[in-house]
This record gives sequence, C-alpha cells and structure tokens, in this order.
Amino acid sequence: MNPIPHVLVADDDEPSRIYFSRQLRQYNLNVTAIENGSQVIRWLKKQPFDLILLDILMPELNGFQTLEMIKTDPDFSHIPVIMVSGLDDLDSLIRCIELGAEDYLFKPLNPVLLKARINACLERKWLRDQEKSYLEQLQAEKAAAESANRAKSVFLANMSHELRTPLNAIIGYSEILREDLQETNASLVPDLDKIRSSGKHLLGLINDILDISKIEAGKMDLYLEHFDIPSLIQEIAQTTQPWIEKNGSTLNVYCAEDLGTMYTDLSKVRQILLNLLSNAAKFTEKGTVRLVVERNQEAGDRIQGSGVRDWGLRARSGEISITQNSNLKPQNSPTPHITFTVSDTGIGISPGQQETIFEAFNQGDNSSTRKYGGTGLGLALSQRFCQMLGGTLSVESTPGQGSTFTVSLPVDMVDHQVTTALASDASDSPPQMESVNLPNGGGLILVIDDDRTVRDLMVKTLNQEGFRVVTTWCGEEGRRLARELRPCLILLDLMMPEVDSWAVLSAFKSDPALAEIPVVMLAIANDQSIGFTLGISDYLTRPADFKRLALLLHSYRPDESGGKILLLQEDATTRQIIQRLLEKEGWTVAIAEPTRPALETINQDPPDLVLLDLMPPDLKSLEFVANLRQHEQLHDLPVVVITAQDISKDERLWLNSYIETLFQQGGYSREKSLVEVRKLVTTCAQSRVCV
Ligand code: ADP
Repeated sequence: MNPIPHVLVADDDEPSRIYFSRQLRQYNLNVTAIENGSQVIRWLKKQPFDLILLDILMPELNGFQTLEMIKTDPDFSHIPVIMVSGLDDLDSLIRCIELGAEDYLFKPLNPVLLKARINACLERKWLRDQEKSYLEQLQAEKAAAESANRAKSVFLANMSHELRTPLNAIIGYSEILREDLQETNASLVPDLDKIRSSGKHLLGLINDILDISKIEAGKMDLYLEHFDIPSLIQEIAQTTQPWIEKNGSTLNVYCAEDLGTMYTDLSKVRQILLNLLSNAAKFTEKGTVRLVVERNQEAGDRIQGSGVRDWGLRARSGEISITQNSNLKPQNSPTPHITFTVSDTGIGISPGQQETIFEAFNQGDNSSTRKYGGTGLGLALSQRFCQMLGGTLSVESTPGQGSTFTVSLPVDMVDHQVTTALASDASDSPPQMESVNLPNGGGLILVIDDDRTVRDLMVKTLNQEGFRVVTTWCGEEGRRLARELRPCLILLDLMMPEVDSWAVLSAFKSDPALAEIPVVMLAIANDQSIGFTLGISDYLTRPADFKRLALLLHSYRPDESGGKILLLQEDATTRQIIQRLLEKEGWTVAIAEPTRPALETINQDPPDLVLLDLMPPDLKSLEFVANLRQHEQLHDLPVVVITAQDISKDERLWLNSYIETLFQQGGYSREKSLVEVRKLVTTCAQSRVCV
C-alpha cells in the first residue's frame, strides 16, 4: 500500500494555514503547515514531502525566492510546488512557471478546485517517481550485467591463458617426440601427429575465445601496417589449399591487377580470410571454392570489368598461381575498398540461419555441430574484426547450392587512436628519411628516434665507430627504410611520446623481411642528461614457433659445435620444452630464476646468450637487463626476449613507464649511456654479417 502523501504548506497568514490543514486532512493527506519561506528548506531536510503549497507574499523569504531555492537544490527539485496567491496577475503567474512551479492557485480557494489540482499534481509525481525507480532499477541491472560480462571476459582471458601454457607443452613435446621417434619407431609418428594436430586445433579454439572476450571487454588492439595484398593472398591460398583438397574440392583464386598494398591490421585480415576459407572447405564436398579479390570505389561497389568472370587459376596440388585480369580497372576514389569474396558450391545456409550465424557461439543447426564440429565463433569474430577495421562482412546463400561471403575493407585505415602505434611524427609533414651519413666502410645502422639531438648524437658516436647511419623519427618510415636498406642493426627509442615502441618492435619482428635484424631499444632522457639502454638483440612473440627460435638463436653461436644459453623462463613446463629443444640443437642450457638471476654467478661461467621470457611483463626481468648492461664484464651479452603476441596496450604502457622510472633511478650519465650503446652496437653488429 502507498504511504499517505505528505504536504508542506508555507503561508504567513494563520487563517489560511488553518484552512489548508483542515481541507487537506479531509482529502486524507498528511499536512505540515509553517509560517514562512525561510523554514521550508529546513523542513525538507528533516523529512520527505510529496507536495509543497507555497504562498507568494511572505515576509523574509517570499514565494518566488523560496521556489527558486527549492528548484535549484538537486535534493528537492523533484518535489512539485503549487503556488498560492491573492494576486491575480499574469506576470506573477509566468514567473512562477518559469521558476518551475507545477501549478498556480488563486485565493480565495475553491475546495473542489483545490482537491482536483492537488490530486493531479500528486498523480503526476507518483508517475514520475515510478518512472525514476524503474530507470534506476534498469540501470542497476544493466550495471550488474555489464560487470558480470566483464568478469566473464576476465575469467575467459585468464582461463585461456592458463590453458595455453599446458597446450603449448603438448604441442611442443609431441613435436620433439616425433623427431626423436621418426627413425627409431616410425609407427608411432601418426599417433603423435594426431596429438599435435588436436593440440593445435584446441589452441585455435582457445585463441578464438580469448579474442571474443577481448573484443567484448573492449581490449582488442589493432596494429596497422602496410602490406602487399597479392603476397597475402598467395600465402592464404597456400595454407588453405590442402584443407579444400581434403574434401575433394578445388580452390580457384582470382586477383584483380594492381591490387597493391593495404594499410590495416594484417593479422586480422589474415584471420578473417582463413576463417571464411576454412568454413568453405569444411562445408563443401567435391565442389569449388573461390577467392576473388578486387579493388573497389566504395564499400559494396563492384568493379566494372568484363562481363564474364574468368576464374583464372586452377590450383594444382602444391602449386598456387594467381590470375590477374587486366580487364578489371580499379576506379579512382577517395575511399577505395578491397573486396574479398569467398564463395563455395557447398551445402549453403538457409535464410533463417543466415540471420544468426554472425552471433557468437551460434551454428547453423545442431546437426551441423555434430557433423562438422566447430564452435560457432569464426564468423562472429570475423564480422567484429571487419567492423573494427572500418569494413563489412555479408553473406548470400542458397541452401544446397552454396554460399558467398563478402568482406569489404578500406584500403587505408586511418584511425588516430591506433596509427600512433607506428607513425610518430609530431609535425604534420610527411615522414621522410631525414639524414643519411654514409662514410666509407662499416655496416649500416638505422636509428629511429623522435629527438633530433639524440639522432645527431647517434650519428656522431656511431660514425666514430666506423658505422654508416640512417636516421628517421617515425616508426613506419623506419620500417620502409629497413626493408629498403637492410641495416645490420636498428636502434629504436623506447620513450617516444605517443608511439608504442613495443608495437614498432613487434612489427619489425613479425615482418619476415626484417625479423632477423637485431633491434636495440634505447631510452634516453635528454633534458636530464641521463639515459638507459635496454639492449634487446632479438625479439620473438609467443606462442613461440620453436623452429624459428632455434633458427634465430643459431646466429648467436660462437661456433658450430654449440654454445651456452642462460634461460630465464618462469613456467617450468615451457622451460623444459625450450631446454630440450635447445639441447637437441647442441646448446648447453643454464637455468636461472627469472626474477633474481645473480649476476656474479653468471659471471663465473658466462653464457653466449641470454633468453628472457617477458611474459608476464615484469619489472625484475627488465631490471635484470638493466643491471646486465651496467656490469663490467657482462654488459655486451646478447639478450633475446620472448613476449606474448597479445601483450595488451596497458602492459606496453606499463613496460614503458617502468623503464622511465628505472632510468631515472639509475641516473646514468649520458656519456655512460652512449658508451653502452656503442658497445652494444658493436657486439650485435659483429654477430651478424653486415651489408
Ligand atoms: P563454426 O564453423 O566453428 O561452427 P562459424 O561462426 O565459422 O563457426 O560458422 C557458424 C555457422 O555458419 C556454421 O556452423 C555453419 O552452420 C554456417 N556456415 C558458415 N560458413 C558456411 C559455409 N561456407 N557453408 C555453409 N554453412 C556455413
């Protein structure tokens, strides 16, 4: 039952107060009658009221002033106010309405009118209160749902992380065993292959779940880069052709000419295409799967070209070639898009299913889950990636005849939030190679630093050592130069404002053309003349491809017979796998607690190389590298870092901010820092063949 409404009456005239009190009680209302406006706020603070009747002409604080106070106080402004006055003038009425009064009554009061006005006012207040409470309830439920969703995403992210470590062990050990047994017990190899491929399948699913939860939690980062579209298509075709042939189908790839390059997130585009092609492979038996790539004017536009489509390539086993049709002319447009069309002649999708297949965990129907497997995440992820990249993903299908999925993505994705990952120019002018200093002799070193003084200093210092130096202030331009000039070493500033140097480093190391070039990260604070050098000779992302790791480490060997590695890896299983693998490659492996490796112990029998796992990115490991760089004997020891591919923006920022603190605490002199740089550069460059 609703409580009885409580009305506050403020009137300096006693007979009026008595009249109001009597009348309102007759209407079954509670009444508090007071004699002036200055007491109103005090009473409102004491107890809740549902309605206020306010006389206009009162001593001290008149009705207008009191009304203004009520309506400007957020605690009381929701209480309706009816103004009461003997003045029958329009100006007062207008002023009351402007100040927020709900209604207006003239004295002498008509009891019937009074009752009707009060009831209407209370009714409206009740409705407003109801609406407010529903809204609050909805907001609370929404907040609870969002918090539960966030908790779910965090849980999924953690679980996925926990699951990946043992899975990496399963995959890694099955690979090691396979190699061991290939000659002595070949009959076990197919079983080991099954373990390995199931492990990889599971790892793929876990990665999908992790991606979905990251998108939902708003934590999916983009890494923009320039890449060559035909090379990507070639690679995708090579990967997917065996999947398609497994079901007796044929892959046809068709590329328009002059596709050129795209500037977007390469790994997401690759993932979208692999998802679509693996679905096409899965749902098509003894049919055809086609991949068509075109450059369009606008999203959704089709290229104008020859009426008949020439599918060009008939892919033969193990051999992929891509047909380019010169009839297709890309049209000039301010917003060109690339359209990737994946079509198949498979089972097709019914109109009803087409509406739900892009939802996470949704599959065409339950029978397809049993027959074809899968999680129902691939299309949801692909569509969300397309949206993140400013594009679209759509489907057209006829059951029994086949399906066509169309991805349309902007050729050049300009998003200022993420472009900073690679482009660092503070001014508006386009980045360019800033200075080239090429005295005769020495290897070429590329310096990427946004600070001119540091760049000049590097040129001088490194020239003295006999190196040629190219400098730039922009990560993206640095990459172009590195591809063109193939330096023997890259010096990368860790502290560039607005640039995520870890993303730049990661981009270098994921680019097959540049992955082998050692990168030294620098952090130098100019104004304070202090600096810190983090000499990372190489950098790998996880899950590490063990073969690539072995190949990369090979270049650090003192001689062919072997060498010694100090392995800093927290997770025991991963440590054992890497140790086994390295030992098989002929390395002697020493293990140390990653959090506290003792430099003096290391110095007694120094390794040829340190392999450091920076996952999770932690302070002690970086401190270790810093101490190593200061150590008299160990300062030029090469350090190879492994970090996770999905290291988040926050973690990168954290790493950067930590390094700033570190060098400030260290207070090294710039002179000393440059000596470190010189030594590092010489060591790293010597271990490579310089151009
Ligand atoms: P999964 O393939 O893991 O089930 P997806 O999100 O990739 O998840 O696909 C969702 C559903 O959409 C599939 O279960 C299938 O029913 C349908 N589907 C996707 N691609 C095709 C295709 N090329 N042909 C027929 N059905 C498809």
